[in-house]
Amino acid sequence: MTISQHQVLVIGAGVVGLSTALYLRRAGLEVTVLDPLGPAGGASFGNAGMLSPDTATPIAMPGMLRKVPGWLRDPLGPLAVRPSYFPRALPWLLQWVKAGRLQRVLAVSDAMRALHRDTLTCWRELLGDALYRDLIRPSGQVHVWERDDASPTEAVEQQIRDRHGIASQELSADDLRQMFPGIARDITRGLFVPGNGYTVSPQRIVHSLAELFRAAGGTIIAERAMKLIPREGGGWLAMTNLANRNADRVVVAAGAWSAQLLSPLGIRVPLETERGYHAMLFSPSVTPPIPISSKTRAFFMTPMEDGLRIAGTVEIAGLDAPPDERRATILVEHARRLFPELQAGDVRYWMGFRPSTPDSLPILGAASGQNGLYLAFGHGHFGMSGGPPSGRLLARLMTGQSPGIDPAPYDVRRFTH
Ligand SMILES: Cc1cc2nc3c(=O)[nH]c(=O)nc-3n(C[C@H](O)[C@H](O)[C@H](O)COP(=O)(O)OP(=O)(O)OC[C@H]3O[C@@H](n4cnc5c(N)ncnc54)[C@H](O)[C@@H]3O)c2cc1C
Repeated sequence: MTISQHQVLVIGAGVVGLSTALYLRRAGLEVTVLDPLGPAGGASFGNAGMLSPDTATPIAMPGMLRKVPGWLRDPLGPLAVRPSYFPRALPWLLQWVKAGRLQRVLAVSDAMRALHRDTLTCWRELLGDALYRDLIRPSGQVHVWERDDASPTEAVEQQIRDRHGIASQELSADDLRQMFPGIARDITRGLFVPGNGYTVSPQRIVHSLAELFRAAGGTIIAERAMKLIPREGGGWLAMTNLANRNADRVVVAAGAWSAQLLSPLGIRVPLETERGYHAMLFSPSVTPPIPISSKTRAFFMTPMEDGLRIAGTVEIAGLDAPPDERRATILVEHARRLFPELQAGDVRYWMGFRPSTPDSLPILGAASGQNGLYLAFGHGHFGMSGGPPSGRLLARLMTGQSPGIDPAPYDVRRFTH
């Protein structure tokens, strides 16, 4: 058997792998991407499409623990942990709790801000002006609450926005009714974040990265990397389901599956999957003009080019358990709490695997002690925002350019040392 030789192998063709691959290719490297599912076959397919330069709030927050028991009592609430999976998830959950301390949250918010603030700039760099305008709407996003009372995390969220000079505007019930005709009467309070936006198609935007990458001379191969083996004298052997491939350098960007490839190398990362769901309504009777999220029920409604997407919630149940379709169907019920007149029409239900670290920051950069191995995963709830800036950061690090932002907060050693 001949063994193919590659300069750079990128494992995973989601938003993170393809952003990295395209930046690397444009920097002049020979780059090949492996993914058995092709572009956007993972979480990048079905997310809510939020592109959020002005989101710098991690998921674990002070005060949040108080909400968790109530959420867990409701099997269809915003957070569910499958009882049989609980023992496996426990170490990650404990790290998640630790990450929710205020000092850590503020430090994480600094690193999230540094990464996310350039998301629209990076998307424009990657897509070019015409595709950017076709696929991205810098419209702002609206968050709403069902009750008047403040949630325990709100004060810290405002502290984070103030810390980073992020503009936001409180919305009254009247403001909301003007922006979203037909919105329910018990939605009395909202927050407009004007600097954020969304894509009208997560799938098409990631496929566009793939097309641009191919047009720039990159290659995408439908193979699954089964094992990574360091070669004597340098470089890596990737055993795939169909071939053996040698590479000078390998980038692991396999989303929620990244830890599986790394643990045989002794690299143990706290990567859990927060499974999320969407209901895609192809002929909805109501379409909000801009994305609206329910902070009470933890989901987004996004007006996409092929219909209305209702996406969100978190289920901790690992990579193997089948989807719980009730978590997807309930999203339509949740959406009716915002828009009582909503008729769903044709619906597609979907589940995807968010690749999540306990502190909400991705793992980016060289794998310590493993020459030529690079890590780019763990973007959790924010990969559509963090993916392109992560690709730019990693490509700069790999090609000896100035990284532009401090890479230290994303270093894997925060977990392994
Ligand atoms: C319901 C939901 C809503 C979301 N909403 C938003 C949002 O509004 N905004 C936002 O920024 N983020 C959102 N996210 C998060 C976002 O979708 C993810 O962070 C992002 O897609 C992760 O990208 P990725 O490239 O790391 O992983 P993925 O898109 O999952 O890609 C990983 C790829 O690696 C491939 N792969 C795995 N193992 C191997 C292997 N061994 N060999 C080769 N290939 C392999 C897989 O086939 C897959 O295609 C949401 C996620 C969900 C589930």
